[in-house]
Amino acid sequence: TGPTIVAGEILVEIMAIERGLGFLEPLELTGPYPSGAPAIFIDQVARLGGGAGIIACVGRDDFGTINLERLRHDGVDVSAVSVSDRYPTGSAFVRYRPDGGRDFVYNIAESAAGRISLTAEARRLADAAGHLHVMGSALSIAGLKGIVAYAVKAARARGGSTSFDPNVRKELIDGADGAHFAALVDDADLLLPSGDELLAAAGVDDERQAVAALIARGVGEIVLKRGAAGSTRFGADGSRTDCPGFLVEEVDPTGAGDCFGATYLTCRRKGIEPGKALLYANAAGALNVTRRGPMEGLAGFDALDRFIFGTDRAAT
Ligand code: ADP
Repeated sequence: TGPTIVAGEILVEIMAIERGLGFLEPLELTGPYPSGAPAIFIDQVARLGGGAGIIACVGRDDFGTINLERLRHDGVDVSAVSVSDRYPTGSAFVRYRPDGGRDFVYNIAESAAGRISLTAEARRLADAAGHLHVMGSALSIAGLKGIVAYAVKAARARGGSTSFDPNVRKELIDGADGAHFAALVDDADLLLPSGDELLAAAGVDDERQAVAALIARGVGEIVLKRGAAGSTRFGADGSRTDCPGFLVEEVDPTGAGDCFGATYLTCRRKGIEPGKALLYANAAGALNVTRRGPMEGLAGFDALDRFIFGTDRAAT
């Protein structure tokens, strides 16, 4: 029991309407949309009726306000979000390329997100948590490392669980960060890699070996995200469940992985069996990519049931 919590960056996303390369000429933009991987994740937990809270820092500005209003509206506990008078809420400008790639201009490092710290409210939320979800950004924001270390300990002390999305750039995981990364992997009751992150986390180049190695290191279960192809769950008992992707038109892939992970986790925390949880997660990820804006396609169980009923899936 106790809410699911996350810690990390809250920002806005501003998107180019037309696909193309970069931002080198004036173009039409749409946004700001509430964003930030931890925010997307925790908002989806709340949409599914799971207890949810976030530790973060935003600026005292409209970009912060639209995020706080959205999270609050959807039922996320934002009491541990501090508001900086000095630093603005971060932003990411994104333009999709014709080939599906993305160009970004980020304004995050010097934003309020970098001022996150272990406040009294953050401690209180971490002390009450039943589950902690950790994301790759935990290794790239200095203040966040201490919060994650504290929250992992607090979760463990209460018999709570943890999940980890190892979405980290390779160049960040050397030296001390490498040890920190490995500990987060080993501690995870649920690991949520996408693409090659599974192989990178295990340090081998074969999927089956990677799964065996990670389970041997103590990971409870692994759910691999495969984009349009769907997902696969590997249990600690050696079981494997494949779930083909839903056939949708991808408009904006940002946020799909976080929405997917939040849905899988919340289903499992509600006692839904792994196969059904995977189906809901696939549906949530697929529905999310059909809408512009990382948090605009988040959906509760009713909408997911309707989507599952009305949408075809790729053949296995
Ligand atoms: P990440 O954003 O972490 O890289 P993915 O792109 O694999 O994660 O997306 C997460 C999940 O969302 C996938 O496993 C799949 O279920 C769903 N999904 C993502 N993109 C699509 C797509 N184009 N069509 C259908 N489902 C998708």
